[in-house]
Amino acid sequence: LVSRDVKPQTTVVDLGTARVGDGSLCVIAGPCSVETRKQVLATARHVKKCGAHALRGGAFKPRTSPYEFQGLREQALELLAEARAETGLPIVTEVKDTETLPLVARYADVLQIGARNMQNYSLLERVGDLRLPVMLKRGLSSTLKEWLMAAEYIVARGNNNVILCERGIRTFETETRNTLDLGIIPLLRERTHLPVIVDPSHGTGYASGVTPLARAAAAVGVDGVMVEVHPEPAKALSDGPQALTFSMFETMMRDMRRISGLM
Ligand code: PEP
Ligand code: MN
Repeated sequence: LVSRDVKPQTTVVDLGTARVGDGSLCVIAGPCSVETRKQVLATARHVKKCGAHALRGGAFKPRTSPYEFQGLREQALELLAEARAETGLPIVTEVKDTETLPLVARYADVLQIGARNMQNYSLLERVGDLRLPVMLKRGLSSTLKEWLMAAEYIVARGNNNVILCERGIRTFETETRNTLDLGIIPLLRERTHLPVIVDPSHGTGYASGVTPLARAAAAVGVDGVMVEVHPEPAKALSDGPQALTFSMFETMMRDMRRISGLM
């Protein structure tokens, strides 16, 4: 069902105030984790002012260590809803498991399935039963076929609103957090009608790499990019090293407009 052979035209996923897959470049930006009311509202206002189309923010965080910040959970969802009410930006937030899906689905405009959950088939089936847009991130070590089959789980249950997100894969290289696989994008375009976005934040793991790779993604031809932005990256409770400052994000948006002209 996700194959380009069965549906030649790219699927357009409607986020309410923005569309992904209609030929424009959708920019999703915001903090890795929602930390405080002040942090998320300030970030939402800034990214909106710079022209972002959606706000991201983690409420339930899948952390490598159980001792690291796990997210503000429902309180974070409330804060994201407040940011949406003020800015009009639709909310992209991760759903980590089937237990919290009903709660997250009450707030989210887009349900993010994280890399670690790409092959959590019961979660994929459950989001497939909804009609909310789903952003399916590529697994840390997943092949193109495995990724498309994971998307198939969602679409097979009747939810066609699936966006694929390339976020880097694990390779021998340890200097970068992940290896952003831009080489897969043209092939993905040929194989599937689902819209494709790129996350250069997790794809690099270092802030100075984010804008160059966002530009590269726009040049390769994607439907959007998702980047992490924080008012004070040094104080971030998660993923600070890869967070763009407000001024870096402003510069990125200027660059993106120059390259794509489709924003
Ligand atoms: C995130 O977007 O903050 C995140 C945890 O991403 P990933 O699942 O790609 O690691
Ligand atoms: Mn993150």
